[in-house]
Amino acid sequence: MAVCLFDIDGTLLSTGGAGQAAMEVALESVFGITGPTEGISVAGRTDRAIVTDLMKFHDVEDADANWSRFVDAYLERLPHELASRGGLILPGVEALLAELNRRESLTMGLLTGNFRRGAELKLAHYQLHDYFCGGGFGDDHFDRDDVAKASLADMREKKEIPSDAEVWVIGDTPADVKCGRAINANVVAVATGLHSIDDLEACDPDFLCEDFSDVDLMLEIFPGE
Ligand SMILES: [Mg+2]
Repeated sequence: MAVCLFDIDGTLLSTGGAGQAAMEVALESVFGITGPTEGISVAGRTDRAIVTDLMKFHDVEDADANWSRFVDAYLERLPHELASRGGLILPGVEALLAELNRRESLTMGLLTGNFRRGAELKLAHYQLHDYFCGGGFGDDHFDRDDVAKASLADMREKKEIPSDAEVWVIGDTPADVKCGRAINANVVAVATGLHSIDDLEACDPDFLCEDFSDVDLMLEIFPGE
């Protein structure tokens, strides 16, 4: 038995900036803030961490009421941005997921910094949601290593996974490689996000590729049958 935990943005799909745009709209509609968000890094980070930085930068109190108003506005706006931004499923992803889904000894989950509902909206927009039976999300965690631990724990709760099962993490950032190591996973790094092959190679993933377009090769790399 093997467990594959997939990142979303830059790994499975590119939303064309829909997530960031929805956050900017939410900031403006809820707090009246327009202004720079460029200085705040997003790749590989959790939505909790990103929004905390945004609120701090703009002097918004980090209070529960502000959080729920912001998240509601973000989730309300996200479908519109997904529909209008011209994002795409990254090369090879649809075929790869369809083939891996056929493997009885492999189960797929998510390991993403997205809010859980944001992840659902993004994947559902591209009809990729049904491949994944659980995972870890960025609602509460600041550190991606904690999302990795939560993801694996959730998968163990949902599926019977033997303690010696192989775990794989698939992502597009150095933070994905690092969090994979935090749960003793093998890591596949793919350079379809913001990070170059060289950036990712420096993190020493177990397998590194430009994209997933060579599906036959990827099917040899991934575990299970
Ligand atoms: Mg990513």
